[in-house]
Order: sequence, then structure tokens, then C-alpha cells
Amino acid sequence: MSKVADYLQQHLLGEILTSTDVRDYFSKDCSLLSIRPAMVIYPRNENDIRKVLRFTWQLAQKKHFITITTRGAGTDQTGAAIGSGIILVLTAHLNRILELNSRTGLVVVEPGIILGKLDESLHTHGRFMPVIPSSSEYSTLGGAIANNSSSSKITKYGDYNQYVKELRVVLSNGDIINTRRLSKKDLNRKLGLVTYEGEIYRSIDVLIEDNQTTINQNKLELKNNLGYNLAAVKNKDGSFDLTPLLIGSQGTLGIISEITMNTEPFNPETFLMVASCDNTINLQNIINEIKTLSAQPSSIEMINLNLLEDAAKINPNSLKTVVSKPFSKFYIFIEYDLMSDRNNKKYIKKVKKILEKYSHDIKMASEIKDKEKLWKLRDISSYILTHNNGLNRSVPIIGEGAVPYNNVGKLIDGLYDLAKKTNIEPILWGHIGEGIIHLRPRLNIAQIGDRQKVFRLLDEYNLLIKSLNGTISSEGNDGRLKAPYLKQNLSPELYQIYQKVKQIFDPYNLLNQGVKFDTTIDDLKNIMRHDYKLEHSYNHLPRN
Ligand SMILES: Cc1cc2nc3c(=O)[nH]c(=O)nc-3n(C[C@H](O)[C@H](O)[C@H](O)COP(=O)(O)OP(=O)(O)OC[C@H]3O[C@@H](n4cnc5c(N)ncnc54)[C@H](O)[C@@H]3O)c2cc1C
Repeated sequence: MSKVADYLQQHLLGEILTSTDVRDYFSKDCSLLSIRPAMVIYPRNENDIRKVLRFTWQLAQKKHFITITTRGAGTDQTGAAIGSGIILVLTAHLNRILELNSRTGLVVVEPGIILGKLDESLHTHGRFMPVIPSSSEYSTLGGAIANNSSSSKITKYGDYNQYVKELRVVLSNGDIINTRRLSKKDLNRKLGLVTYEGEIYRSIDVLIEDNQTTINQNKLELKNNLGYNLAAVKNKDGSFDLTPLLIGSQGTLGIISEITMNTEPFNPETFLMVASCDNTINLQNIINEIKTLSAQPSSIEMINLNLLEDAAKINPNSLKTVVSKPFSKFYIFIEYDLMSDRNNKKYIKKVKKILEKYSHDIKMASEIKDKEKLWKLRDISSYILTHNNGLNRSVPIIGEGAVPYNNVGKLIDGLYDLAKKTNIEPILWGHIGEGIIHLRPRLNIAQIGDRQKVFRLLDEYNLLIKSLNGTISSEGNDGRLKAPYLKQNLSPELYQIYQKVKQIFDPYNLLNQGVKFDTTIDDLKNIMRHDYKLEHSYNHLPRN
């Protein structure tokens, strides 16, 4: 590989590192998996990315294959930011805000920017980005778009599909395309191009035309990152947009080098309600009734008793002045933002009535200090992520899926059963309004028994989500971890269609090879780490 490194160093402006220390560091992301790369490149600009991809494409034409993994901050929990060939790290150089229009809220940004930094700049212009994962203090915009990450404000603001308007993308052969919504006329122009871009537009168009029924039949009414978002490419009005295909594609179709996206007016004024609830029937009733309201809250979150008991054990003072024992079985958090909208005040009253029917001990807060105190309860989940109980650590293997909101009570019941069967603590929290409930089993993955348990948990979680018509990839994405389960969760036809999408964009399978496809359970066993720590993120408080 050093010949390749020497060659590339002559042609790139960015740095190429092959030392063992650097390769060791980048052999891990925040998943349970590890693969050591051959080299690490910090592209200085888009042209560097192009040159690397053109070079690996030309080598592939001569049957010499070097894979490329794009990496932001490496906080991916599915093993999608690691790979055996070249790792392209975008945080070092490709991290600038290129344009920011505070009137329209449109920003043009490079992918390696840390989301928290971007959001800070947006605030100074009276804007904000509502779709940011709780890792945003140390993760990048490019990674968030490639993973189609979620935030606690998902109920109102949705995901990146609502915000990203255009992407500049380096294709697997080094060509560059700009994706955006095209009219029928513009699409015809693209279809006529003799370049690789034209080939992609033609092939995707035909693929959708030939399989429209299968694609539409399999569309879920919830946030779903399983496979590719092909259903959003071609619209009824004849418009066509490759952007949704790239969002959530985890670097398997192309490398995003520039993002144009909308933002929201910054509205720090919020109103928070927190209530105690005793069972999943009442929790479900609350969600069902709130969902009938025409103005939805910005957040609907949940934590359970086990989470609080665990936090109280780890740090007894952490809950003092916020909540006292005995803890309730569940706490539900409902936030409305944009309080200048008088309508919202009306909806807060309606939500209060719903809460009064199905819960007790309702707390209402509009003052910052009161809200912060209550949100602290929800943020307690960060203790869980960092705490080690001897050699046991909270490992990210399950709990990133979603079910339709009207099945979320059954999901919670199912997670309690799963925890009992596998002898793990049922510590639960999540975006209950969107059917997303997290569970982080605490395991010692150096031990054979717990290593086996990882696969039992994956199998059982997969079956549970399937039985509730959900998706195993909603907040998180497929990565390597869930790749073996894709076939079971998609119809054979849809699985083949997604494979074709991959082949169209990346015929030599160079981009993030093993992510979403081509990873088996045996592969996972071979690349599973023997320790698990979140040390990459200890500068900040890891949250989920
Ligand atoms: C403690 C903790 C809390 C978390 N909380 C949340 C949460 O609240 N919500 C949530 O959704 N996720 C969460 N995550 C998961 C993760 O942080 C997010 O998915 C995050 O957006 C990933 O960003 P990153 O910069 O670390 O990307 P990376 O991990 O570096 O990469 C993620 C994926 O994107 C690809 N990629 C990166 N940049 C590009 C690019 N420019 N072009 C193409 N592909 C690219 C990579 O190849 C990889 O497949 C959490 C993780 C941790 C460890």
C-alpha cells in the first residue's frame, strides 16, 4: 500500500497517513466493530476527493480494488465509519460555512463542519437547525446527512429530507454531480447526458419505472433508514430528485462535498410539560390522542423507572431537587416551541387535558431554569452511556429502530420481555412520539457468553420490530451491524432493487464496502471488538 500512498501524496494537497497509531485510531468508530484501514487521507478540498476516487476507479478497472470509507467524526454506531482500504477524514479541512443567508435561512456548508459549531453560527443570525443528533457537539453535518440522523425535535421538524435542498456529490469514478429537485424538462436534459451522471439518471429512472408498485407498497409511514429512500426520488408531478437517495445512504453511493440546506428561525421560547405515567396503556393513549391534534409538539420524549434507578445508583445526587423517590414507572416530556404563535397556547391546554386523563404529577415549565431542571431528567441517559459496571458497558446494538406510533406501547412491553429473557436491565428512553425507544444492554463483550448475547439480542429485536410493522433502522442506520438483517426486513424484490441502486452508483463496490450489503453474521463475529469505550467523545458528554 505504501506505493499507493506515495503516488497519492504526489498528487494531493491533503495529508496521507499510514502510521500504525493513526490506523489504530481510525480502526474504530462508536460501534462495537473494528477494522483497521490501510491509510488515512485528510483531503484538503473537493478536488482531492475527486483525485482519490478517480485513482481507485482506474485501479478497479485493472482489477485492483481499494475501498474508500468517508468519515466525519466517527460517531457512527453501526460500523459505517470504518473500513479496510482508505479512510477519507473530512473534519480537518472540509469544514467551512460557505454562505449563510439570514433572511432566507439558506446555508451552503462543507460536510466536515461540526454540527454544534454550525448551529452556534446560525444562532447569531437568528436561525437554527432543528435536526441535530445529541452527538452534535462532536459530530459532523456530512455524517448526519449520510446517516439521516434524528433529533428529539423529530415530531415537529422531521429529518434531513425536509431541509437538504442540494448536494454536491463526488461519484465513485471521480465525477461531480449536483443533486436537486428537477422539473420534467430538466430531468430530460440529464437523461440525455453522455456522462456517468447521465447513466445514473437513466438507470435510476428506469429502475423506478419498472418497480414503482414494489417501491410504493413497501413505503412505511415512519422514519425509515433501511436500504435507500428510492420512494422519494420521483414525484407525482414528474419532478425528480436524487437528493433523498443520498440522504441516509451512509457513504455507499457517493461522497457529499457540499450541502445547501434550509434552516429554521431560532425560537428559544418553549413550553415544557412533564408527567408521570404508570403503564404502557396510558402512555399509548397519551400518544394516540396527541397525534390527533393539528399542531404537533416539537418533542415527545420518554424515560422509564429503570433509567432513573440506575442513575440514582451511579450518582445519587444527580436527581436531587429534580425528582424524588419512589419514581414513577414512566415519565413523558412534551414540548411546544414557537410560543409567539398564540395557537400553541391553545394546544398546550389540550395536551394538559389529555395528560390529566392518563397521567399524574404534571409539571409545567416556561422559565428557562425550570425547563432545564426537567430536561435534566431526560438527559440522564448520558450517564448510562458513559458508565462502566466493572467490564460491562452500554453497547449500541439494538434500540435504534421505530414502530408506528400506535404500536409504541407494545414495543415498550416487548422490550421489557426481551430484557427479562436475556437478563439485561430494561433501561429505556427515546422519542416515544415517533415510536423510537432506545435500549442499551450493558455487556462485557470480552466474555464469550455476552458476545453470543449480542447476536441473540439482534435476532430478538429484529423479530420484535418486524412483528410491530416497524423498521430496525430509524434513528440509526443499517451500517455493517444491521446489514445481515436487511434481507429479512425487506421483500426479496425490494432488496434486489436496493442492490441495483448500489451497483448503478458504485459498480466496483468501492464506497463503504460492507455497509448496508455484503456483511454476514460471521463477518460481524470476526470484526467485533473485545472492549468497548466511547473515548472518542469524552471531551463532551455523550448523549443519546
Ligand atoms: C453518544 C452518541 C449519541 C448519539 N446520538 C444520536 C442521536 O441523537 N441521533 C442520531 O440520529 N444519531 C445519534 N448518534 C449517532 C451518530 O452520532 C450520528 O449518526 C452522527 O450524525 C454521525 O455523524 P459523524 O460525523 O460522526 O459521522 P461518521 O460516524 O463519521 O459517519 C457516519 C456515516 O456517514 C458517512 N459519511 C460521513 N461523511 C460523509 C460524506 N461527506 N459523504 C458521504 N458519506 C459520509 C460515513 O461513511 C458513515 O457511513 C449518536 C452517537 C453517539 C456515540
